[in-house]
Amino acid sequence: MPAPAPPVVLRFAPSPTGRLHLGHALSALLAHEAARRLGGRFLLRIEDIDPTRCRPEFEAAICDDLAWLGIGWEEPVRRQSEHVDAYLRAAARLADAGLLYPCTCSRRRIADAVAAREAAGALWPRDPDGSPLYPGTCRPAGPLRLDVRQLARAGVALRLDMAAAVARAGGGLQWCEYGDTFYTPAFDPASRGQAVRADPSGWGDVVLCRKETPTSYHLSVTVDDALQAITHVTRGRDLYEATAIHRLLQRLLDLPEPRYAHHRLLRGAEGRKLSKSAGDTGLRALRDAGATPRDVRRMAGL
Ligand code: GLU
Repeated sequence: MPAPAPPVVLRFAPSPTGRLHLGHALSALLAHEAARRLGGRFLLRIEDIDPTRCRPEFEAAICDDLAWLGIGWEEPVRRQSEHVDAYLRAAARLADAGLLYPCTCSRRRIADAVAAREAAGALWPRDPDGSPLYPGTCRPAGPLRLDVRQLARAGVALRLDMAAAVARAGGGLQWCEYGDTFYTPAFDPASRGQAVRADPSGWGDVVLCRKETPTSYHLSVTVDDALQAITHVTRGRDLYEATAIHRLLQRLLDLPEPRYAHHRLLRGAEGRKLSKSAGDTGLRALRDAGATPRDVRRMAGL
């Protein structure tokens, strides 16, 4: 007899770097409603690892806006800034496998190295977000023995040696994608979705521990999705390509494989990306202008 499926666990994971806008409302409402429909749990995770941009008042505002939308979550809320040790443990495992190296490059040094290569005639490759791949300035000739904690204390960034990591992970890396079908009442929880080949190579040697904080979005989201036993990662299409990195880290760290549902994105006027500073689509501004949660749902196309 096959093992029973684990209970469904979904999460909404905003970064408190500004106020929520309509795009966040769509994401949170879709995830919350899917959790309810599937009889699952719904968690709120505050992704506040960036000390320069995250502010407690934004976290309070996020909770207030979600409650106003009628969204309830399980306590306690997981705040990533309180779990740096878990991310360091994961980084140490990758370092012990010889997959990390310290990088002391400034943005300027990277930009100069890329410019020099482009001046020499080669169009330097970009990652899926459009940033130039790391040119490998600090990449060592072979694996290094690293003391991750000591490097973190010294504020040294750590990069993943992508080629070595992909080789270590072996072939057949893929994920199970539901896309928007996941959010429809007709969704069949027994279906496997679409198998998407995960190729993280196009991201190059990503930073896994930053200079200013000894983790990164990719590392902490992967560790937390596992620690919180998230069964279905629900988030916007803007993070679709990043899933390849998360699947790679799951394989390297022996973490379970969640399923993924990347949903449509809302666009502002002239197709621009919604931003946290775009007041017109901010939930606070809409509330102040007299909009109701029902109006917000309608504006988000729900
Ligand atoms: N914290 C990320 C953001 O606000 C979302 C992370 C995720 O859902 O994987 O864009």
